[in-house]
Amino acid sequence: MIKTRVIGAASIAFVLSCSQASQTIGSVEPQAEGGASRVVGSACVVDTDCNPDGSVKCLNDGFLGGYCAPIDCRTGSCPSNSECYILAGGARACLAKCESSADCRQGYACTDNGACAPSCGETSCGDGFACTEGRCVADLTKHPAPRFPEPACDDAPDWRCRDGANECGTLYPFEPADGPGYTNYPLNGETATDQYRSFARKDTMMLVKYAAALVACKTKGWRMGNGKVLALGDMSEANGSIPGTREKDPGHPEGTHMNGYDMDIGYYQLKGNDNQLRPICAHVENGKEAYHCTAAPNNLDLWRQSMILGTMFSTDRIRVIGVDGKVGALVMVAMTSLCKEGFLPSESCTAEKLAYEETDRGEGWYLFHLHHFHISLNKYPARGYPTDMLGVVTTPSSHGDLRLRDRRMRANETAN
Ligand SMILES: [Zn+2]
Repeated sequence: MIKTRVIGAASIAFVLSCSQASQTIGSVEPQAEGGASRVVGSACVVDTDCNPDGSVKCLNDGFLGGYCAPIDCRTGSCPSNSECYILAGGARACLAKCESSADCRQGYACTDNGACAPSCGETSCGDGFACTEGRCVADLTKHPAPRFPEPACDDAPDWRCRDGANECGTLYPFEPADGPGYTNYPLNGETATDQYRSFARKDTMMLVKYAAALVACKTKGWRMGNGKVLALGDMSEANGSIPGTREKDPGHPEGTHMNGYDMDIGYYQLKGNDNQLRPICAHVENGKEAYHCTAAPNNLDLWRQSMILGTMFSTDRIRVIGVDGKVGALVMVAMTSLCKEGFLPSESCTAEKLAYEETDRGEGWYLFHLHHFHISLNKYPARGYPTDMLGVVTTPSSHGDLRLRDRRMRANETAN
């Protein structure tokens, strides 16, 4: 079970607006006399401390020393030097703007979205995260495994298809819908009895079942994360076409999600009762949906996520896996740590097949990967499926070989 994180960087869902003039924080003097409001973000005990008529709320829940904030705001409706934010519980409030934590009151820190919000404490961030400069950030110096060495988990199903090119390349419905470490839940118009977007090649299916089962087993005792199974999204249709084609609404660009080589999968998450595809980060910019993470992820179980990516990379079957631009670098560092500890074989950590774009380079990864990662398998040469598939997962004999190469790989084929 994870500890509840106090309201802090993680609690601000997203910025509604960036339209306010960029005056220096603190340049507006509190105007306690004459009925004017106290400045947004000031300390308070009751609402009337903020404004004599009580129209400004004194936020107390998780806000150390109180926090004067007009609530139910809209884009552009906040006083200068503040902006409208959605709080973790869904309420909207004007919060003080900042450029760094030095702009904020004691006990408060500047979030990625530029708001003064309560800072974390020693114990408030949850396992796998550390309170750094008032904010909960992934603690990349240690992972949250409770014991070492890892469990063997050698009963995970084999990922190697040995049934010949035709059979291994045949598309099947991803069944059973629920298996060790995963769920193939109905999504994007599917129903439980009509999972028409969930067909994959036999070898793709075997690989995903292997990785999900292995990660579930190896991370069983980990204290962080919601501990729920991997949730599978779009694959291909039964005839190999792009999901949605049947309804005359293909849901992916031409050339992807065809013939059962590709799969969208929800990220492992910290909170919630499942890992279904949902944004794991703030994703609004200038009041508009950005379709990518605009801040460091606040609902990503970085360690399980890194485990499954590393597990897949260790198999030789992955062509590329795409993640959001705010996820890629975190995963790279976390995978290195997991390799060092022996949780992943060292070959996982070269990870030249991880793709992400921190800025939009037009490679197809920048947008739409805020709620899932996309895996794509190698296409074997037309002459046939190798009979002697290698790429055996080995226990690392040396942990010294942990080169981190430049991650900016080119995705030659369309992403998403
Ligand atoms: Zn995809």
